[in-house]
Amino acid sequence: MKELGYYNGRIGELSEMTVPMNDRACWFGDGVYDAELCRNYHIFALDEHVDRFFRSAAMAEIVMPVTKQELKDLLQDLVGRMDSGNLFVYYQVTRGGGPRSHTFPEGKGNLWVTLTPRELNPDFGPVSAITLADTRFFHCNVKTLNLLPSVIASQRAKEAGCYEAIFYRPGERVTECSHSNVHILRDGTLYTAPADELILPGIARARLIAACGRLGIPVAECPYTLKDLREADEIIVTSSSNLCVRVCRIDGAPAGMKQDDLFAALHSAVIDEYFSETDD
Ligand code: PLP
Repeated sequence: MKELGYYNGRIGELSEMTVPMNDRACWFGDGVYDAELCRNYHIFALDEHVDRFFRSAAMAEIVMPVTKQELKDLLQDLVGRMDSGNLFVYYQVTRGGGPRSHTFPEGKGNLWVTLTPRELNPDFGPVSAITLADTRFFHCNVKTLNLLPSVIASQRAKEAGCYEAIFYRPGERVTECSHSNVHILRDGTLYTAPADELILPGIARARLIAACGRLGIPVAECPYTLKDLREADEIIVTSSSNLCVRVCRIDGAPAGMKQDDLFAALHSAVIDEYFSETDD
């Protein structure tokens, strides 16, 4: 199979799979999701992603229809049915189904999985970015399906010929991006927004911090501003899709790109870990 869809036990070609219109995803975008790369049939950072998926569901008070182990076994089984082992593994749980009513329905959530071909390009970047006011809601640490502000920000970035939109809150405090986390290097230290309600605790972010630990690069998990971003030695964007990407322009002006060796060391540490964990 090239593109697979799974919904509550049903499996089929993604384009042919259907879901009931009364699924809470259709009424309210009422669900949470997670996603990661798979290479050579090895799902990368699976434990970390499944842990976060269950944390998001618990914060959203969604009753999981499977245990963590059952989900991992299911994902591995589905991956094993694919023609290629290089995939994007996406899954979501929605708050069941029923008549349109804001209050919760009884029972367990609906589990969806999609598998589509994808390969990491380790040479991706450097990229340009724009900055945008962060108008998202407060619970950005929940990996919610409600992505309207992120979708609009991502489109604004695309229209500006950029890869990402970097969000800031009042006081010009940089939070994260439409679908990535953002970090800066200044005077040899990595600064990254703290993992509070204003950012998603990215798995790639955690891997970048761990790589800093291995390389002896100090890490400060503290708020920083747009001014800090514009004056940074390096700007790094992380996500499970592209892992570790360098930023070269912000709002049309050159930015970062001043610490080639440090960026190269961090980039290699993150990318090499991905390739070594997903080798045959
Ligand atoms: N921040 C937001 C808003 C995201 O949507 C994502 C990924 O989808 C990330 C950060 C990066 O998270 P991860 O590294 O787990 O992919």
